[in-house]
Amino acid sequence: MHRVGVLRTIDDLGELDGKRVFTRVDFNVPLEESRVADDLRIRSSLPTIAELIHGGAAVVLASHLGRPKGEFRKDLSLEPVAARLSELLGQEVQAVPEVVGEIASSVCSHLGPGEVALLENLRFEAGEEKNDPAFAAELASLSDLYVDDAFGAAHRAHASVSSVPALLPSAAGRLLEREVEVLSKLRDDPDRPYVAVLGGAKVSDKLATIAALSARVDRLLIGGAMAFTLIAAAGGEVGDSLCEVERFDEVNLALKEARARGVEVLIPTDAVVAAEMSPDAKPEVVPSDAILSPMRGLDIGPGTVAAFSAALSDASTIFWNGPMGVFEMDPFASGTREVASAIARSSGFSVVGGGDSLRAVRGLGLEDAFDHLSTGGGASLEFLEGKILPGIEALEPM
Ligand code: ADP
Ligand code: MG
Repeated sequence: MHRVGVLRTIDDLGELDGKRVFTRVDFNVPLEESRVADDLRIRSSLPTIAELIHGGAAVVLASHLGRPKGEFRKDLSLEPVAARLSELLGQEVQAVPEVVGEIASSVCSHLGPGEVALLENLRFEAGEEKNDPAFAAELASLSDLYVDDAFGAAHRAHASVSSVPALLPSAAGRLLEREVEVLSKLRDDPDRPYVAVLGGAKVSDKLATIAALSARVDRLLIGGAMAFTLIAAAGGEVGDSLCEVERFDEVNLALKEARARGVEVLIPTDAVVAAEMSPDAKPEVVPSDAILSPMRGLDIGPGTVAAFSAALSDASTIFWNGPMGVFEMDPFASGTREVASAIARSSGFSVVGGGDSLRAVRGLGLEDAFDHLSTGGGASLEFLEGKILPGIEALEPM
């Protein structure tokens, strides 16, 4: 469904001075030994947080972290995130030891203009993922206004994302606003040719994306683990590569429909294979439909890189989600590196989304060569497929 959404933004909230603003952020960051290992997501929301502080608001931040499934887990506490945010802001950030309850209420009600508190991991409360109305009401009671800057969670119908904004005057933060602006252009009015590059590991999720995106793009380049399901479904030998046999019919149908629509679908013709997924593996290049057990496909091969690079060279719009191979290990990194470089060289408008894809781009030092780095993986895919995202719908004018 096409919808040109106009979001309410911070500008529509009116006077912020003296108001408490519940601010949903995506601080779902990697932790290592109780320290933030990568603070990109925290830094991405700094413009919104700084603007609220300067406007004189008391800022009540809330985020999820990992999958604690409704129970407290020390290793998924947001305390280290509060410490990192405090360094980045250069001011104190109170780490609230609970999500809702007496302490949370007391901290929030004593928070002065320009002060910042971070609630504990929203998913410590079962009501968050269940979208429980009573839990949403408790969250809403902590503040006067609601701002959502958590694009990475916008596709989840969770309490803090879809129900709290119905209870308070609400708006999109600057990060969310920018995401919707850029991705709306890709969804509704892309300059053509529009080329999408899909890869990564989440085969099941992304197979449905093929069908949905093929209604919108001119070319679809498919690498990563999901390519092997496509190759096997067409009768190829994929050895021990990741492969979802039960999806063959669906995949063949999606590809047939895409081609009938005139979409050029490129699937790897060669693959980098090894007997084990290890940094010390001895990789070989073989035709992608002739991989024999115990070998498995772990990257796209040089022939595929050349074909993908050519298909990207004249693109006017590029969307990329998912690494082409196991880029974390040297022997399987070149497909991702070369495709990232081809996108960087292209003069088209380029967008990359997905946690691992972003990590790959940053690891290569190519972030400035992309026009937009989306903070949402699943959220950006669903948005571009034309799905309605609960977190965005909640912020559209009635
Ligand atoms: P993103 O986080 O960008 O959305 P995913 O999480 O879907 O991407 O996938 C990233 C992971 O996919 C990486 O850890 C990478 O090692 C893995 N991957 C890519 N290609 C393959 C493959 N052929 N076999 C197994 N894993 C793969
Ligand atoms: Mg990932």
